Amino acid sequence: MKENKRKFINFVNIGEARLPEQKSVMEQIIKDGVCPFCPENLRRYHKEPTLREGKYWLLSKNQWPYEHTNAHFIAIHKEHIEHIKDLAPEAGAELVVLFAWAAREYNIPGGAVAIRFGESEHGNYGSSVLHLHAHLIQPDLENPQGEKIKFKIGQPIAKN
Ligand SMILES: [Zn+2]
Repeated sequence: MKENKRKFINFVNIGEARLPEQKSVMEQIIKDGVCPFCPENLRRYHKEPTLREGKYWLLSKNQWPYEHTNAHFIAIHKEHIEHIKDLAPEAGAELVVLFAWAAREYNIPGGAVAIRFGESEHGNYGSSVLHLHAHLIQPDLENPQGEKIKFKIGQPIAKN
């Protein structure tokens, strides 16, 4: 892992925790002072098995899928990077291969792929974990509430 020069925030943004169990795991991560998605730490915090492993990514299910999803996969970059500018073009190609495999394997008729990246002293970009990861999300079009999936991007620090 690259040296942590971060001054303002942690490896995780606990404000982005959506569920009580997720929040308590994130509190432990902050206490441990480690990145939960770095390979040497992943098993301690992420309980979903690795479905596929490439040169650049591990493909797994999201441990805490968003509400109103039928499927929610994440691809975790194997090296600790936080910004898309640090992503190798070959890693981008491999990501498409892995997500296409999941779409075939799990019969996903439609959905979205999304990646947040970066950190800032002015808030966060919406990620709960800063280590670069990508989402493949299949919405549940028949959810009884008729809700859309909300993929949050950006949480500025409130100014008083
Ligand atoms: Zn990491």
